[in-house]
Amino acid sequence: MTAFRVVGLARSFAPKEGQAQEEKMFSAWIRSLVLRSSLYAVTAALLPAVALSASATTYPSVTDARLLGASQDDGWLMYRRDYASTGYAPFDQINTGNVAQLKLAFDLKDDLTQGYEGAPVVNGDWMFVTTPMDRVYALDAATGAVRWKYVHPVDKKALKTVCCDVVNRGVALYDDKVYVETLDNDVVALDARTGKLKWRKQLYAPGVGYFMTSAPLIVKGKVIVGTGGGEYGARGFITALDAASGKILWQFHTTAAPGTPGGDTWPAGAYKTGGGNPWITGSYDPETDTLFWGVGNPGPWLATLRPGANLYTDSVVALDPNTGRLRWYYQWTPNDTWDYDGSNESVLLDLNYQGKVYKALVHADRNGYLYALDRTNGKLIYAAPFVHATSIVGVDEKGVTDDPALRPAVDKKVFTCPSFLGGKNWWPISVDPHAGLAYIPTLHACMDIAGVQPVAYKAGLAFLNETFEVKHDPADNHWGSVQAIDLATGKQVWQHETDLPWNDGTLTTAGGLVFSGGADRHFYAFDAKSGKMLWDSGELASGIIGVPTTYRVKGKQYVAFWAGWGGASPIWGGVMANDPAVKAIPTGGRLYVYALP
Ligand code: CA
Repeated sequence: MTAFRVVGLARSFAPKEGQAQEEKMFSAWIRSLVLRSSLYAVTAALLPAVALSASATTYPSVTDARLLGASQDDGWLMYRRDYASTGYAPFDQINTGNVAQLKLAFDLKDDLTQGYEGAPVVNGDWMFVTTPMDRVYALDAATGAVRWKYVHPVDKKALKTVCCDVVNRGVALYDDKVYVETLDNDVVALDARTGKLKWRKQLYAPGVGYFMTSAPLIVKGKVIVGTGGGEYGARGFITALDAASGKILWQFHTTAAPGTPGGDTWPAGAYKTGGGNPWITGSYDPETDTLFWGVGNPGPWLATLRPGANLYTDSVVALDPNTGRLRWYYQWTPNDTWDYDGSNESVLLDLNYQGKVYKALVHADRNGYLYALDRTNGKLIYAAPFVHATSIVGVDEKGVTDDPALRPAVDKKVFTCPSFLGGKNWWPISVDPHAGLAYIPTLHACMDIAGVQPVAYKAGLAFLNETFEVKHDPADNHWGSVQAIDLATGKQVWQHETDLPWNDGTLTTAGGLVFSGGADRHFYAFDAKSGKMLWDSGELASGIIGVPTTYRVKGKQYVAFWAGWGGASPIWGGVMANDPAVKAIPTGGRLYVYALP
């Protein structure tokens, strides 16, 4: 049992005493982190980028040209493989005919008990993986031999304001450097060959609400990163830094200030503590030279305190990557009061819809709708629910219709779907761009949610003014599923349902396969067309909540992923987190890499 589980955060809150409960809950969570952080400080001092293996192989430089061609590279050069965030690899050595023969090539046991959410990133025969508490391993991608390990000295003040476990989702690569975002708001550049620190830039002081957990995105020599902190009223921002020096080149603040477009969608001053954190890696379209980034929930959660659309919260923003200037936006959930962060990834592909081919952006939102937008102008192509969704009643070209009866208010509790964890949380979808299918890790859950007597914003404290509890979806008593959606229609093609929540990203390959792992400690390969389960890893060390990837070294294809239960679900999952089967999931990090024998 880990400290995270012991603090007992996952429980129901009586609306009357909600605010007190909410603060008690956060302080218990923080105490457990600060206690543990003294251990981290010691380890960090002892282990600054230790070179654990002297094997010096050549390191292939990551150039702009290679990043532009990443979809065809033998490695896995960035978080979602390519700028379009497809999560799709053109490899077919492992395929529907032989996947049942997959065998463990190597594994790596790590020593932390928090959530392992990082995507294994691979360049040549170099693999880079991150762990909780911002540690980075460089491994031989064919043998698993550790080449170096970097332990970031996380400032313990940062642990006061991490909402959802001390996770990290992976690195970015450029030139001969490895880039990581950290819980104490640093962007760190390491020498890819040695793990030695090249530069470090702090974007904000830790402890007031911000933290950073996503993998950066590299575009034309810029390291582009986003903040977390929507549960603390921290005003979100996206930053571009010079990859060589760490110099800040531009910042885009995701809540609109007065006098700027969208500034009139906030009550006076509310934008300053309005949240809107862009905490998941964006996508990039080289053809139109446009960056797409998802923006999280407004603060505080209780919307009656901030009438208006609250731009650009719960939106995707299209930015000029050279300047950070806004080109257009699309808002998934105006005046959100359900914590439906709009930060989920955007996948870019050509979409044939009703006889017309669009340059589309596809996005499965926390609010339970799958969207296709025209990415050249931000116009809606279609939106369709992919789970039981009651808060949002409909979406069309005129806008979003929600159910006013399902908006909580002070002392008004409502039951609505999906839960604040979303029909899909941050775990990325993947697509088969040729077949036009998307594979969505899905949560089937609803919630009780109520407003409480408002408490004013205070830096470093939770800023919610709501209480909440995740409940079963009365329309579907499975907590999880992985489902395939035909993007030409928005309709489900197949679904694999599970009693436990489905908290892992999906990976699609030209071998006709979809890979993803379950909270049930098994990693699976599905037939991409039919959903038939073709391979099951057997029981692994822990539940799987990361981002699986695949790559080739010397012509051999590997599939890599972390197991390591943790993250938001055990802390905030309410009835789901208290499900005995969920409580029984062991923690502990282990990297698994599979290949054909
Ligand atoms: Ca949130």
